[in-house]
Amino acid sequence: MGVLGECWLGAGKKAANIVGIFPGTGVGGGIIIHGEFLTGAQGAAAEIGHMQIDPNGPLCTCGNTGCLEASAGRWAIERDICAALKSGEKSLITKIAGNNIQQIKSSMLAKALTAKDPLVTRIMTQAANAIGRACVSLNHIFNPDMFLFGGGVIEACGDMILNTAEKALKNDPFFKQLKTPRVVASKLGDDATMLGAAAMAIKKTHTLGKISLYPTLRLSPSKKPLVKGKVISKTSFLRADGKLKEPKETLSGKIGQNEIEDLIRKSPDVLWIAARSPKTITLTPKANGVLKKKKIACAILPTAKALAAYNASTDRKAILFYL
Ligand SMILES: [Zn+2]
Repeated sequence: MGVLGECWLGAGKKAANIVGIFPGTGVGGGIIIHGEFLTGAQGAAAEIGHMQIDPNGPLCTCGNTGCLEASAGRWAIERDICAALKSGEKSLITKIAGNNIQQIKSSMLAKALTAKDPLVTRIMTQAANAIGRACVSLNHIFNPDMFLFGGGVIEACGDMILNTAEKALKNDPFFKQLKTPRVVASKLGDDATMLGAAAMAIKKTHTLGKISLYPTLRLSPSKKPLVKGKVISKTSFLRADGKLKEPKETLSGKIGQNEIEDLIRKSPDVLWIAARSPKTITLTPKANGVLKKKKIACAILPTAKALAAYNASTDRKAILFYL
């Protein structure tokens, strides 16, 4: 469901062929081919977590040995860390987790990784390598546009796993002459699954595509933006999840890092700034840096033009009405 959600409204919007890998407690999977969700004969397809990647690997919860999630799921990472601690290895994780070492949360792993804890780094590297190997095989089978990663472990330690997967794909001699698929992280976070379930329900009723998160914007007779029949009379913005919000801080003509981070919450692909006189607005270098890093396009336009651009776009989008 998470992959379907991302495909509808998140990081997978522009891809027709997606392999989704969601390492959380286990490793979830979802595959979309030519825009269609792969379910298999009995609805049991795309169990990427139970792909056997190591014949001599550890026992999995499913009864097989050497499944991907038996190396890369959070439960497997926990198991390996506990075993190493029992054998006498020292790690920051005992301090980070307090007394409850049986329940190592993804955020704790992230803290230990940032602190370059040798034990956690080693075990997380093993997990990431296992995911990299799985990606290489999945690439051969499905040749997707993108590998889409989500789930708790990715939200906490995504950079490391995504980099490892990307490297494994780039180093694959079989695919040397072909383009490496994109490796991207989820944009919808915890909302992905629920939105995916909604997508499936809508698809069942054959209306997907006609429904949008976003309202159609118009200009009021007084030339102010009109959102769902309401005239916008003070500076506010439509966030990427379609919600109308007011900026946390009062905006001046110079938009800085904090202000821009507020505007791009919920991860849009594109942000418009609609203003009566666009020339009076600038972004600080830091704000531009944030947009560049997150690959978010931004344009400052006169109100009517910005509204038209917003309406025409099928991207995940946000717009600031600067009044
Ligand atoms: Zn298994």
